[in-house]
Amino acid sequence: MAEVPGWARAVVEEACREAGAAEPRLAWRTRPGRPTSSGVTRREAGSVSISAGDDPGDQRLTLLHELAHWLAPVPSRGRRARHARARTSHHDAAFYAVAFPLYVRHGISPADALRGESARYPSALRHARALRVPGAEAAWRIHRAALRSRAASRGPLRVLVPEHRVRLVRDGRWTRCRTCGVRVVGPVLRRLRRRGGSHVLLTRELPRSVGATPYRSIGMESA
Ligand SMILES: [Zn+2]
Ligand SMILES: [Zn+2]
Repeated sequence: MAEVPGWARAVVEEACREAGAAEPRLAWRTRPGRPTSSGVTRREAGSVSISAGDDPGDQRLTLLHELAHWLAPVPSRGRRARHARARTSHHDAAFYAVAFPLYVRHGISPADALRGESARYPSALRHARALRVPGAEAAWRIHRAALRSRAASRGPLRVLVPEHRVRLVRDGRWTRCRTCGVRVVGPVLRRLRRRGGSHVLLTRELPRSVGATPYRSIGMESA
């Protein structure tokens, strides 16, 4: 474990003082040769751990991101709360309402905050736009246009197997829809077991450059 840099200690102190919150224990390790940093906040252990890459701006952004997790209100009841406690990372509107102002108060320009945050969490742009972070509107529009042009370049969807009632069958360790053969897992499987549902199997023609497999199948659930 490396020594915590003085600036990082000062950021933690000041951010927690501003918020009237207790300070987490800060653990710091260095990852030479990598530009980007990463971090983990464990509320229950009272700790923030940073693996610091070489880019000082990204170190600062990463530390402030973890401090936002430390300072953001935690949902206290229900499914979201269990999810949040289990994952400790929920990048939602409440999180970004703490995070973006924190970044700007601690020396990250709005442009750098948008760039750094959206590179890891594209949904950050939507929240930044709602919070009226300078530049977020334009960044969000560019992101949307990029998504649209990517979707357009993938070619149209075609129906491969028309809508049908899902009938679940076991296939070794998997469960599949007997009609279309699509593998069903996770929350979708639990929901289909409970309530049943319908399926459409769609396919998309991929551009030739993608390789030998000309089609990709997409199972689409409809309630
Ligand atoms: Zn996070
Ligand atoms: Zn099916």
